[in-house]
Amino acid sequence: MQEKEKKSVEKLPDVNDVTTCESTAQMLRKARKDGVEICFDRAATMKACPIGADSACCKHCSMGPCRLNSKDPYSKVGVCGATIDTIMARNFGRMVAAGTAAHTDHGMGMLELFREVVNGHIQDFTIKDTQKLIDVAASIGIETSDRSVKDIANDLYKELERTYTQVEGEIPFARRVPSKTLETWRKQGIVPRGAMREIMEMMHRTAIGVDQHYENITKQCSRTALADGWGGSMVSTEISDILYGTPTPILTEVNMGVLKENQVNIIIHGHEPNLFESMIASVNTPTLIEAAKQAGAQGINLVGMCCSGAEMMSRHGIPHAGNFTSTEAVLVTGAVDAQAPLFTTNPRCHIEGATHIQFAEHDPRACTDEIVIKAITRFKNRKLPVEIPKTSNPSIHGFSYEYINYMLGGSFRGSYTPLNDNIINGRIRGVAGVVGCTNPRVKQDYVHVELVKRLIQNDVLVLQTGCSQIALAKAGLYTPEAAYLAGPGLREVCETVGMPPVLGLGSCVDNSRILIAASEMVRVGGLGESIADLPVAGAAPEWMSEKAIAIGQYFVASGVFTVFGVTFPIVDGTNFHKLLFDGLEKQGMGKWGFTPDPIEMADLMIAHIDKKRKALGIDKARERILVDMADRRLIEAA
Ligand code: SF4
Repeated sequence: MQEKEKKSVEKLPDVNDVTTCESTAQMLRKARKDGVEICFDRAATMKACPIGADSACCKHCSMGPCRLNSKDPYSKVGVCGATIDTIMARNFGRMVAAGTAAHTDHGMGMLELFREVVNGHIQDFTIKDTQKLIDVAASIGIETSDRSVKDIANDLYKELERTYTQVEGEIPFARRVPSKTLETWRKQGIVPRGAMREIMEMMHRTAIGVDQHYENITKQCSRTALADGWGGSMVSTEISDILYGTPTPILTEVNMGVLKENQVNIIIHGHEPNLFESMIASVNTPTLIEAAKQAGAQGINLVGMCCSGAEMMSRHGIPHAGNFTSTEAVLVTGAVDAQAPLFTTNPRCHIEGATHIQFAEHDPRACTDEIVIKAITRFKNRKLPVEIPKTSNPSIHGFSYEYINYMLGGSFRGSYTPLNDNIINGRIRGVAGVVGCTNPRVKQDYVHVELVKRLIQNDVLVLQTGCSQIALAKAGLYTPEAAYLAGPGLREVCETVGMPPVLGLGSCVDNSRILIAASEMVRVGGLGESIADLPVAGAAPEWMSEKAIAIGQYFVASGVFTVFGVTFPIVDGTNFHKLLFDGLEKQGMGKWGFTPDPIEMADLMIAHIDKKRKALGIDKARERILVDMADRRLIEAA
């Protein structure tokens, strides 16, 4: 966050136009009073470049940079001869490569930690969920009967390392892909090898003078993205569960009201579950709690934000202060004594002006204890008045793929059969994954919340990860009582099982849980033979990161219709656009969609779900109508 001289607030948009989150709005008003600029102000004063927004420019060599006319995209080509389709496909491919690199580097870090735990070189972390270890090993053909945990774990490490380093052949988790989906990938030549190889080839092919054909580049986009979704990200989630425990539903609190004025507040932000796990141990250390009390605090309050926050909320019920675009706003409270922007811990990530205290898995407490000590000192020296928004919302999270299995079928007959049955009989129209960040170029949380409300009103069960679930949690949809907002069929299922109509599955990396859930729906039967046959759809309504493009592409390549909001980084009506928004579906995969409007987005997703229901011959089980809030009131009044 950057302090600036007090600027004319008249030039900045009304706070109620940039966020629906009351806590963030309150902090934005305070920031303006305090003369502090945050991301919403910067977004208002930094206009997006229209050519860049359409991806109609290229700077891949020094004959350029070249700018094409996105209003008349075929009127010229780059100096090298690159057409608009080549340029957009190359730019898109590099976004996929960057997003995949981020997820897979994180996943590889988790796998290295696992190796060191198994070798006994690291004692601060252990294998907490041996059943998950056995299940994951068995899922990729590792023998598990009559073998020690250590032997299974060693084999699992060796096998999963291929996810990243394998030069030829299919990655291990390709065995989890429904056979017809895998057949499509093989036909298209997009079954991923190791992520390093795919990212390397993506970067190679998108350099000047290499791959000029947007269709061929798109194949590598899919292959690289699949190395993320079914590779790096999936390994990360599975190893996190093995080391830290598979989430089960847990009640927590979400929103800035989780900060405590009279306690030392520590927020963990970013994508650092290992740091978070160690921090849990540090804040529960009696000597550090005593030191906090000596400093005048009643205790130490550990809170999460953004993705690590979503993961820890799901796994341990740690309260969550807010999603991505509330990052700076929460600091304006004056109550945060330690957060990642003030302390950086990962050697990959330093921030000018922040204190770097490096985290090492071999000695994690050295870092987290030091941060706690510094936070206590900061608490003692708090000088400015503290203002904490009062709101916090009770919220249930932690619906792992395994728990959904148990929840629907019980201990003895845990299965996705009840879910498939309820889709076939029409009580549940279909399933939507609504994920992704928030983006200061659109009103914070608005599209997430309105989209999800419209989906559940129309009996679509919603699965969520990342910051999107925080938007819905703040809107109060993460309790079983929120089932009253659902359509009659979904409401009946939620009330029978006692579950919310919206299920939170963890962080953005945990989108792989949605892929596994989709595969299980195919395996159980009755809903087609591939993921592309399922009545499902996905959305990232307020996306902003390259990682979102990688995620979107792996969902599309897996067979899911995936709709993005805010903006879509290519020119409408071009050949590349037609391929992403239509052609991939004809090849047996999913396709992209785009609209910034939440109602239109929901209706696109519902129309797709209905199209799939019709193709499966289960459309007669329910009337094909869209239900909105006014209809619901009429139904309830009748
Ligand atoms: Fe221009 Fe081609 Fe160089 Fe890109 S690669 S900057 S389009 S000359």
